[in-house]
Amino acid sequence: MEPPLCDRCGAPTAWPVVRCRECAGRRLAFASARAALEYDASVRRLVAAWKERGLRRLAATAADIVADVVERPRVAAIAFVPRDRDRTLKRGHHPAEALAHELARRWEVPVQPVLRRVGTAPRQRGLTREERRRNLRSSFAAATAPPGQVALVDDVYTTGATVHYAASALRKAGARHVEVVTFARTIRIR
Ligand SMILES: [Zn+2]
Repeated sequence: MEPPLCDRCGAPTAWPVVRCRECAGRRLAFASARAALEYDASVRRLVAAWKERGLRRLAATAADIVADVVERPRVAAIAFVPRDRDRTLKRGHHPAEALAHELARRWEVPVQPVLRRVGTAPRQRGLTREERRRNLRSSFAAATAPPGQVALVDDVYTTGATVHYAASALRKAGARHVEVVTFARTIRIR
């Protein structure tokens, strides 16, 4: 997405701001979030195909677009949001992981699969927002110690809650600075 952006959450803004209407007052464990594209209808179809059919070359294409639009993060490693345990059985493909590996080659930063899912993976459907948050809050843990500066890759930034809790797990494990990078981002406030 093109600047001006919110310095923190990457939402498009009328002029550069440190915090925007979307993220003001929210506790965010990451230092910044940047996305290549708006998660609009066409990008939504692309991501769905990527997830469901595991189109391998889409990871390379997505990484090309991200590397083109998003400034290379100043980090020592790239971590990614791990897949839901529930979905592991159903899907052979995990876009966040594939994107992390493709970006690692382009940015010449190693992938470090620091995060894992913990606990059961309760169904999110039908839950209130507060219940979803509670589930997310306790669903990530660090399997290894991350470096001080780490990028966190996911396919889509929706509310920012997932990357916040994933970044929080990285911070608890010792990371001081987490930069979130996603392929697409939902724009919630215009
Ligand atoms: Zn913001």
